Amino acid sequence: MMPSAGRLPARPRPEDPAHGTRSMTATAYPPSYYAATAHEAPERPPLDGDVSCDVCVIGAGYTGLSTALHLAKKGRRVVVIEAERVGWGASGRNGGQLHSGQRRDQETLEAWFGEARAHALFELAEEAKRTVKSLIATHAIDCDWRDGLIHAVHKKSWLHSANAEVEHLMARYGYEGTSFLDAEALTRAIGTDVYHGGWRDGTAGHLHPLNYALGLARACEEAGVRICEGTRATAIESDGGGHRRVVTPTGAIASPDVVIAANGYLEGLERDVDAHVMPIRNYVLATEPLGHRASRLIPFREAVADSRFVVHYWRISSDGRMIFGGGETYGRTEPKDLKGFVRAHMLKVYPDLADVAIDYAWGGTLAVTMNRMPYFRRLRPGVYTASGYSGHGVAIATFAGKLLAEAIEGDTSRFDLMASIPAKTFPGGRWLRHPTLVLAMSWFALRDRLG
Ligand SMILES: Cc1cc2nc3c(=O)[nH]c(=O)nc-3n(C[C@H](O)[C@H](O)[C@H](O)COP(=O)(O)OP(=O)(O)OC[C@H]3O[C@@H](n4cnc5c(N)ncnc54)[C@H](O)[C@@H]3O)c2cc1C
Repeated sequence: MMPSAGRLPARPRPEDPAHGTRSMTATAYPPSYYAATAHEAPERPPLDGDVSCDVCVIGAGYTGLSTALHLAKKGRRVVVIEAERVGWGASGRNGGQLHSGQRRDQETLEAWFGEARAHALFELAEEAKRTVKSLIATHAIDCDWRDGLIHAVHKKSWLHSANAEVEHLMARYGYEGTSFLDAEALTRAIGTDVYHGGWRDGTAGHLHPLNYALGLARACEEAGVRICEGTRATAIESDGGGHRRVVTPTGAIASPDVVIAANGYLEGLERDVDAHVMPIRNYVLATEPLGHRASRLIPFREAVADSRFVVHYWRISSDGRMIFGGGETYGRTEPKDLKGFVRAHMLKVYPDLADVAIDYAWGGTLAVTMNRMPYFRRLRPGVYTASGYSGHGVAIATFAGKLLAEAIEGDTSRFDLMASIPAKTFPGGRWLRHPTLVLAMSWFALRDRLG
């Protein structure tokens, strides 16, 4: 699909508000390839006055929109409030890769939880992938969906265990749709010889993340959901009588149930979540259109992700650009020269792209947990949350919405399975955890370089 004629405003801003603006109106989408190629979408007015509903959802990324959509289909009256615009957070800026499985491999999950629970978690992740595809199909969401994702192993000594992991999935989980690639086949598939082997997952794939979020928002509104942009929740109060009250600068929402779906942009709204889920910044670039070179690089247009701790991930866009993600920062500042920062990562994989112009580069905030498994919780009666997808949120955040909706509807079994995953708080508390994390993450990044 070529980009549509309608464009969302994408003007440069003096500062990236990823770490929290307190604006009362929505800011424009940060400039990115996705904002520049987004389908036309209405600007939704902020909340104006006090309202009541069945469920108030805070945040309009995949988690919030999917929760709202699944609840509205059950006849619930839902109001979504979004501090900025629909898909303004990670959901409108990510690599667009839809992965199979949970964020941690199955052998780790078996060791942690035993076979039966590990199997149940794998089944949920498989359903997550199917849920994304089925939402796209059911609601005719035009988001450049393409099948296929290749995993590339960057250390020769890791190849054996990486292949064994896939064999384990095939033998013990009946996993199908995957084929191994030796170094030569991988080079033909991804147009670079810097990797040692890998595998192609035909059931995973990639999409235009912002257009997927905008499509979910449209589906929500068709199902009767009210979405208020430019509306930041500043507090969640309880009236003591079974109702919550979500306070915003322009009004309040009273509802029995509230879902916090703010992920890496939470900024202190809920202490418990803040302690368990840590925001980090990750960066992406889009080159100029590559013309015939694009097909030589990745002839079958799969997405690719490598085995580094700070993953390199890339794909060719529908208009033939290299969309390459790589590099992270853990504090409040981001690299001054974003294009140069991500380009250096890209050139490690594709030195031949040194002559290509970089048209866009942008950053986004995702959220990680200590064990890299998502943080699902019922925090107190009527207050639910899901976040911390640790870079695996296209599938799992969308699916979290389905499980949150099930739980609010009274069937908590599958939500409880995710909520039973133990979670540790980050050492150092809210303010000191950044330096601690920088040290830990820098060590892993160094390991990548030494590899
Ligand atoms: C650069 C980057 C690349 C990534 N690549 C991939 C990938 O390829 N594959 C993958 O699976 N995952 C990837 N991820 C992760 C994935 O994007 C996220 O896990 C997912 O989008 C999370 O969705 P969400 O709805 O929970 O959060 P978000 O999309 O971040 O949405 C949270 C929303 O809440 C709003 N909000 C926050 N506080 C308030 C408040 N007080 N009141 C009202 N609204 C509020 C924010 O404005 C924001 O719009 C990537 C993330 C980044 C940043």
